[in-house]
Amino acid sequence: MESSLSETTETITELDALIIGAGFAGLYQLHCLRDKVGLSARVLELGDGVGGTWYWNRYPGARCDSESHAYAYYFSSELLEEWQWSERYPGHAEIVRYLNHVADKFDLRRDIQLGSCVVSAHFAESENRWIITTEQGQRFSATYLITAVGCLSAANVPNIPGLQDFKGEWYHTGLWPHDDVDFKGKRVGQIGTGSTGIQSAPVIAETADHLTVFQRTPNYSVPARNHVLSEEFKRHCRENHEEIRAVMHSTPNGHAFTISDRKVFDVGPDERREIYEDYWEDGGLRFRSCFQDLLADKAANDTAAEFLKSKIREIVKDPQVAAKLSNIDHPYAAKRPPIDTNYFDTFNRDNVSLVDIRANPIERITPMGVETSAGHHELDIIVFATGYDAMTGPLLNMDIRGRDGLPLREAWKEGPRTYLGLTVSGFPNMFTITGPGSPSVLTNMPVAIEQHVEWITRCIAHLQDDGVKRIEASAEAADLWVGHVNDAANATLLPQAGHSWYLGANIPGKPRMFMPYAGGMVRYRTICDTVSDNGFEGFRLDEDAVGPPKAVQNATVGPFVASTTTNATGI
Ligand code: NAP
Repeated sequence: MESSLSETTETITELDALIIGAGFAGLYQLHCLRDKVGLSARVLELGDGVGGTWYWNRYPGARCDSESHAYAYYFSSELLEEWQWSERYPGHAEIVRYLNHVADKFDLRRDIQLGSCVVSAHFAESENRWIITTEQGQRFSATYLITAVGCLSAANVPNIPGLQDFKGEWYHTGLWPHDDVDFKGKRVGQIGTGSTGIQSAPVIAETADHLTVFQRTPNYSVPARNHVLSEEFKRHCRENHEEIRAVMHSTPNGHAFTISDRKVFDVGPDERREIYEDYWEDGGLRFRSCFQDLLADKAANDTAAEFLKSKIREIVKDPQVAAKLSNIDHPYAAKRPPIDTNYFDTFNRDNVSLVDIRANPIERITPMGVETSAGHHELDIIVFATGYDAMTGPLLNMDIRGRDGLPLREAWKEGPRTYLGLTVSGFPNMFTITGPGSPSVLTNMPVAIEQHVEWITRCIAHLQDDGVKRIEASAEAADLWVGHVNDAANATLLPQAGHSWYLGANIPGKPRMFMPYAGGMVRYRTICDTVSDNGFEGFRLDEDAVGPPKAVQNATVGPFVASTTTNATGI
C-alpha cells in the first residue's frame, strides 16, 4: 500500500518497494513487484527520461555490442513479437525508443519519478524500513530497497591538473549532452581507447577538422560488421524466440550464439588461421566463441592475440602508428573486448593522429589544449572516453547505511562483499541488481538482469507469503561467495589484465578486487535457484538463520576447459 504521511515538517511517502534507476533493470523490477507480487513500488530515476545507461551514453557512435535480437527482454512473448530491431547492433537512440515502448506497454510511467537523485538510503532498524532521501528534498520509507543503478554509470573524469582552466568545450562520453555536439572545423582530442573510445573516434573523425587520439593502453578490436537486418531475419527472430532464449540460457555469457567445443591446439596453425579469418569476417563478440579455451590457456590466447595484432598491422598503413596500436600488453578479452566500425582504418585518415601517452604521459591540461611530456596539442574540444568507477561507484556515490548505521562505504572499504552479487550482509531487505559479485558485465546484460530481477521477485514474494519481515545475508555466506568469485576469476586469464576496470584498477585508490562473477551465467543461475529452493540458504529470515549455503560450497570452479556450458568467456 502506498500512502503519504504528514509529519511535523515534512511528508514521507510510504511504499513497499523503492527501486533506484529506470534502465533495463529498474523497469522490469517495477513490473514484477507491482504487477506480479502486487506491491506498491516506485522507481526514482536521476535522468529526465527512462533508459538508464542508454539515456546518458549518447556519444558519437554509441551502439550496443550485443546483437539486437539478444539485447532485449525475453519475459514477454507479445513484446518479442511486436518489437523489431532495425540493425544487427542497436544504436543508443533505438534502445531508448525500445525502453520507452516497454515503459508504455506495461504502464510503468505512473510509478516512475524522473529527475530524482537519491542521495541517501538508511535502514531504520526500529521500524524495519529503509528511509530514502533525494537531492530534491523528498523522503520515502520502504520495506524493500532495490538498486538498479547499472554497473557503468558513475563517469570517471580523470583528475588531470588544469581542466578547470581549459577554454574549449569538454565532455565525458557517459554524460553526453542531449543537444548534439558539433565537431565541424574543430580540433578534437579524445582521451581513452576502451570500447567507448573505439566506437567514438571513427565518427568524430568524420566531421572534426582534426582528431588526436590519446592512447594509454592499446586495445584489441574485432570489426562489428553492423548491417541493416533483413526482413527474413526479423521474421526468424519473431517466430523462434523460444529457441533463441534457450540458447541464451545455455551459454555462459548469455549471448545468442554457442561457444565451440574445439580447443586452440586441437587444430594445426593453418586451420586455426582459417578459423580466425572466418570469425573475423563474421565479426563482433562472436569472435571469442571460435575456441573454448581462449580465456583459460595463455598459450591458446596468444594465438588469437597474435592474429588480431597482425590485422592491425595489415589495416594501418603507417608502420609506426600500427606498432603503437598493436603493442598490446594483456591477453585478448582479459579486458572487455571492444568491437568496432572502422576503428583502425580511422588512423589512415589525414585528419587523425595518435599520441602514445604511455610513453609520454599527459602532464596537464592547459587553457588551449593538452600537454604531454613530449609537447603541446592545441584543442577546441576534449572528449573523455575514460570509462567509469564501475560496479561499486554508483552504489557508493549514495550514502547507503545498513544495520547499526553501518555505511556501505565502510563495509566495502577493502572491496565489495556481496552474497550472490544481489545482497549485502548488514543491509537487510536491500537487493543490488547487477551488483559486484554478479555475472552482469561478463554477460549479455539483459539476460543477467532478467535472472536477477526474477530471483529478487521470487525472494520478496516468499517473504510476503510467509510473513517474513526481514531477510539478510549472513556474513559467512558473503565470505563464501567472495571466495567463490575470486576462485572463478582466478580460473581464467581475466585477472591478468592488471589495469582493467573489472579489478577496479582504473580508479586511483580503489581497492583491487575482481568484481564480476566469472563462473558463467549457467552455473550462477543454478546456484541462485538452489539457494532459493533450499529456503534461502545463507540468509537470516527474521532472526532465524538458514544455512550455510551448500549451493556455493558445492559450486566448484573447475578449469574452463571442463565444459562449454558452465564456462565463462568474458562478456
Ligand atoms: P574503459 O574500458 O575503462 O576505457 C577507458 C579508457 O580511458 C582506457 O583506454 C583508459 O586507459 C583510458 N583512461 C582512463 N583514465 C585515463 C587517464 N587518466 N589518462 C589517460 N587515459 C585514461 O571505458 P569505456 O571505453 O567507457 O568502456 C567501459 C565499459 O563500458 C566497457 O568495457 C563495456 O563493458 C561498456 N561499453 C559497452 C559498449 C557497448 O556495448 N557498445 C560500448 C562502450 C562501453 P587504460 O586502459 O590505460 O586505463
